[in-house]
Amino acid sequence: MPVPGDDGQAQQDIARRFLFDQADIRGQYASLERAYRDITGLHQYAPGVSRLMGEFLAASVLLSTTLKFEGKLILQVRSEGQVPLLMVECDHELQLRGIARGAQQATAEDNGQLLTNGQLAITLDPLRGQSYQGIVPLASHSLAHSLDAYFEQSEQLGTRLWLAADGERAAGLLLQQLPSQVERDPQQRERQWQHACTLAATLQQRELLELEAAQLLRRLYHEDPVRLFDPAPVRFGCSCSRERSLAALASLDQAELADLLEEQGSITMDCEFCNQQYRFERDDLAPMLGDNGSKTLH
Ligand SMILES: [Zn+2]
Repeated sequence: MPVPGDDGQAQQDIARRFLFDQADIRGQYASLERAYRDITGLHQYAPGVSRLMGEFLAASVLLSTTLKFEGKLILQVRSEGQVPLLMVECDHELQLRGIARGAQQATAEDNGQLLTNGQLAITLDPLRGQSYQGIVPLASHSLAHSLDAYFEQSEQLGTRLWLAADGERAAGLLLQQLPSQVERDPQQRERQWQHACTLAATLQQRELLELEAAQLLRRLYHEDPVRLFDPAPVRFGCSCSRERSLAALASLDQAELADLLEEQGSITMDCEFCNQQYRFERDDLAPMLGDNGSKTLH
């Protein structure tokens, strides 16, 4: 069932936090529809790549909302498979973008073929302060399992994810242990954690994609009081800009730039995430070329 948004329209692009009343466990739910289609619609991805993209997008929302920091969370896989590079970003305002680079010929349905020998990098790029990156192999070709493994080696408290995508919708569920507050007995804490994870693991992909957050939690945890918080909207948005494209041009070889300008009269930069095109004329580039428009000599 769609969750009504402020405008009365179905609001399927959401993240929702939840909390167990009687256990030190919190969770995140994410559901993507329009944002997912906006992102995949810009590219001609085969169904297997679209599904993969959906899982990555859902995961980035879950992680971004769980880690709670101001800035960007980036998930990036480099692989020897049909998709050499897949990258998604989610910022603290839940603005998402993503790209599967070099995936034009990627027709496999199987994640293993798409991301053979993949290495998954998780980067936190805060608005202020140092960025942080952790890397794990893309184990068993499952993004959810790889992220589980990542948290197992980096966090004291358990964290587990479940992801699903079908080309139309993407969804995910995350459970995370909290420091002892409600329950002090370590054995009981562990039992509660296993109980919550075991039930979440019974979720079918279809249920994760089709059930609305409240239904899903009722279906899983009907005996455990769970508090569900208000949904936060998620949307597709790109952080590219004319200024950033110009800065990227400034880092290129200036003689080459001058040659290009001479040949083409102007230089265009395409954003690979959103297909936005930025066009720069000689006047725009003159300051960085440090010239008055004269041709460079070779
Ligand atoms: Zn863009």
